[in-house]
Parts: sequence; structure tokens; C-alpha cells
Amino acid sequence: MKLLVRGGRLVTEDGVYESDLLAAGGRIERIAPSIPLPSGCREINASGMIVMPGVIDPHVHLDLNAYGYTSSDDFFSGTGSAAAGGVTTLIDFAIPSPGQSMKEAFKEKLRRAESAALVDFSFHAQLTGSEGASLPDMEEVLEEGVRSFKIFMPSTEGWGMDDYLLYRALEKASSLNSLVMVHAETGSLVSGFTESLISAGRVSIKDYPGSRPGFAEKTAVLRAALLAAEAGAPLYLCHLSAGSSAAEIRRLKRTGLNILAETCPQYLVLNENIYGDEEGYLAACAPPLRKEADSFELWRGIIENTIDTAGTDHCPFLRSQKKAGGGSFLKTPMGLPGVETLFSVMYTEGVEKRGISIESLYRLISLNPARIFGLYPRKGTLKEGSDADLHIFSEEQGFQIRGSELKTACDWTPFEGMESVARTRYTVSRGEIVYENGVLKGEKGRGVFLSRGEPDLRYF
Ligand SMILES: [Zn+2]
Repeated sequence: MKLLVRGGRLVTEDGVYESDLLAAGGRIERIAPSIPLPSGCREINASGMIVMPGVIDPHVHLDLNAYGYTSSDDFFSGTGSAAAGGVTTLIDFAIPSPGQSMKEAFKEKLRRAESAALVDFSFHAQLTGSEGASLPDMEEVLEEGVRSFKIFMPSTEGWGMDDYLLYRALEKASSLNSLVMVHAETGSLVSGFTESLISAGRVSIKDYPGSRPGFAEKTAVLRAALLAAEAGAPLYLCHLSAGSSAAEIRRLKRTGLNILAETCPQYLVLNENIYGDEEGYLAACAPPLRKEADSFELWRGIIENTIDTAGTDHCPFLRSQKKAGGGSFLKTPMGLPGVETLFSVMYTEGVEKRGISIESLYRLISLNPARIFGLYPRKGTLKEGSDADLHIFSEEQGFQIRGSELKTACDWTPFEGMESVARTRYTVSRGEIVYENGVLKGEKGRGVFLSRGEPDLRYF
């Protein structure tokens, strides 16, 4: 099957220029100024539109069991939601349940994804701290093409790992040319502040940010960075939320440490004032939303290249499930929907409002994650021979994001009513249109698992 994309403005590693693009056999066959239409080939007239490599969301949780619920997007609705937002690759997490090995967790997640996904996907493996049991199993999942290992640092919370295990994991990951990624928060600070709020009877969602202060993140970022330096290993920091963490990373990067940092749209454009709203509990997520000054520092991190990726931590729960927590942060499931709005929020708030170049946005949400997670040059670039994963969008004057119009199975969005100036027109996955002007296309289960290569960190 062939697809000719005619006359769009292509966002490439060599700049932005107008060109035709021909996809054949799932790959980009040719990029040239004027390509004649081959017979039997579908044509998209993209004149006036922008053609970017498909967005890569490196941080998504679909079909996740947590807090006594299953997150509201399974692999079909979640990858459909991704496609509707121009995301052509997502990386989820294989989290072992108690007694399960990393490989079993991976196989189980793979089974569920393969039968349902609309776009391509991969997995990070989750290392769990209890008895340090999963460290010896790292090679097993590596053989499956999993080259990144997530660690939850708050060792006071169930599957968290202490500094010793984190150091061992960093050392081992480095010897296997793979990457450790951390949820950076200092567990004893989180549990201490949580306990003190409980004894003061302050457990409403308004009190929630006080249970996980920004410096609980910053101290963990610093500890993880010191351990990575000792182990001679690179380190990926997930979902940075605190402005002070971004400032530390700027300093640490200057010392030559190989540190990679991710933030999420919610930390860039929302703040803790939401927790004072009537439905503030909907926005419960960990780490919590913070102050406007934190968002300002995170944007600065993006502009100065100290933050390398924007993932979403997409982990939606239904309004009713959130509400069942009765407004207590101890009982409300944590997590927000976001994969579908990643691009429109980042384009509107970054390119339109803050003057970030379209090339910088492309690096943040496609090229960088492709390189860091071993998907480049198959993904994350418009090059002849690469997968024909395209996000074709038009710039439009302010329309509003409406939860009711999104494809996610979640029934609300934290970005409700926000202005957007970019509208996804077509999403193309390996040469096949999977989203066209509001309509999802393509067969359930057409998405494939991506076995990943070594991280390519030369550019960071
Ligand atoms: Zn997450």
C-alpha cells in the first residue's frame, strides 16, 4: 500500500521545508519536491499543513491495575486516543504483580497490547525493591528488546527501592547498555509529611501538595544523580514537577553527568490552585501539581535544553472512581489522562505562546525519545527508510479542548476548555492512516511491539 503526502511543510532534522513524501511498504520511500502519483496510491493534500514525525510518548500506563481499579484506557482505547493526538508510538510499563517475574509481567502486558493496539508500542520493565528480587532478571527482558528499567525511589511505598538497590541497578544497567529511569521522591519525606497531615486531620485534596513537597523530589533527584555518577551510568528522570529539580539538573548537566529529564504537560500548564476547585480531586496525581513558579522553571528547562522529553504519565481514572475517594487524597486514585492532548497543549503553550521553535518541539516529543529509548532511526525522523509514522496537523485559530470530543475512554480531561491552535488532521502509522479528521481507522491489533536498541545518548 502506498501513500503520497502532497505539499506539506515537513519538520525534519535538517529544518522545515515544503516537500512531497511517498510512503510504501510501511516506510518512507522518497522525499522530494514533486513526486508523481503512482497508480493505486492514496493521496493526502497537505498543502497548508505541517507534517511532523509521529509523536512518541515515552510514559504511558494503559490497562493498569492500581488503587483497586483498572485505569480507564485499555490498549485499544488508549492507542486510539494516542492516534487521535498524533502519537504513533507509546511506551508503557510492565509492572510485576507480587510473586510475578519481570519477564512474566512483560509477556502478560505484551499479550494484552498485541491483540488491541492501533499504533506501535514498547515497554519499560519495572524493577521492584522487595528483596531486590528482580535485579538478576534484567538480562531476561533485555533479550526481549526491553532496554529501560523503571525504579520507584520512595522505598517506604511498597515496590520502592533503597539507595543500595538503586546503585546496583544503575551499575548493572550500565554494563548492559541500558537505561535506569526513576520516579524521584524521597520516601521518608513523603511518609513523614503524610503522617503529620493525617494527625492534623488535614487529608482533603487541598492539603495534598503538602504531603509531597517539591524538595522531596529535588533531594531524590540529587541522590539519584550522585549514585549514577558513582556507578558511571546514565540516568533518566521521569515526570519532573518541581522547578527546583529543573534548576539542579541544569547544574548537574554542566558537570558532564549523563542525565536525561522528562516533564509532563500537566506540570507545565496546570497548578495546585486546581485542588481548591469543587472537583479538584480529579487532578490528583503523583507527584502533585505545584505552583506557577515551578511551571515557569520547567518551561525554562525546556527552552535551555535541560529537559529532554515531554511524556504524559497518561493514567486515567473515571470521574466516578475519582469521586469515590470522597475528596481525601489518601483514597483518590492518582493519575490523569493526557496522551491525546500532549501535542495540542505543547504546541499551543510552547510554540504559540512561548515562542519555542517547531524544531525544538519536534526534538522534545519525537526525536529525543526515539534516541533515548533506542527507536531511532526507525522512529522519530522523516528519512527515507524510516517507518512512515506521520503527524499531519493544521494551525487553526483557537478552538477549545473538550473532554467529550476526545477518543479516550476516560470521561474528563484536566485541560477542559483550554485554547488550542493546532488540530490533528491525519495520523499515519507505518504508511497506514489510523486517524483522519476526527475518525479513527485501522484494525484493532495492527500496532506492533517495538524491540528497542541501545540508548543513543551522544546528543544529550
Ligand atoms: Zn508513571
